[in-house]
Amino acid sequence: MKKVVFIDRDGVINVDPIGDYVKTWDDFRFEKGALEALKRILDSGLEIILISNQAGIGDGVYPEASLWDIHKKMLAEFKKKGILIRSSHFCLHGKQAGCGCRKPEIGLFKEAVKDLAYDPQKTYFVGDKATDVEAGKRFGIKTIFVRTGHGRLDEKKLTGKLKPDHIANNLSDAVEFLLP
Ligand SMILES: [Mg+2]
Ligand SMILES: [Zn+2]
Repeated sequence: MKKVVFIDRDGVINVDPIGDYVKTWDDFRFEKGALEALKRILDSGLEIILISNQAGIGDGVYPEASLWDIHKKMLAEFKKKGILIRSSHFCLHGKQAGCGCRKPEIGLFKEAVKDLAYDPQKTYFVGDKATDVEAGKRFGIKTIFVRTGHGRLDEKKLTGKLKPDHIANNLSDAVEFLLP
């Protein structure tokens, strides 16, 4: 069994420009403490899987090449800190495309766990939107909601079936909860 944690990108690892998109590397800012938090996760023996919606591509707001440029540079910053992640999975479809991978759909998670044995009861998805909580639940894993990014706006939506297993102020706090 592998120990993994699924993590959303915008609003968790980097600052989400609410109402806009991270369109170039110049728009990209790490959330405070995020790199240190990712490193702690790895050092604890968990592997990191990135799960991110990037509808701005499908909706024509920025080109796909821009996403890969940002991704390459983000991974280079990770590497400087000794952070190597297991895999990254993006939905590039527009918001209205009706695809099976845009969260709260679970296509990206399914893609990520091909050839991966893991225990859903001990696996978390960390995200900043109510739809992240919904996706994690649909996929049958546990969820941690963070108050960064859309978190402050979405926290009020977390009622009934959308109650996460934990609410954290940010990724660093989520790591405190996650690690034994
Ligand atoms: Mg997000
Ligand atoms: Zn998609």
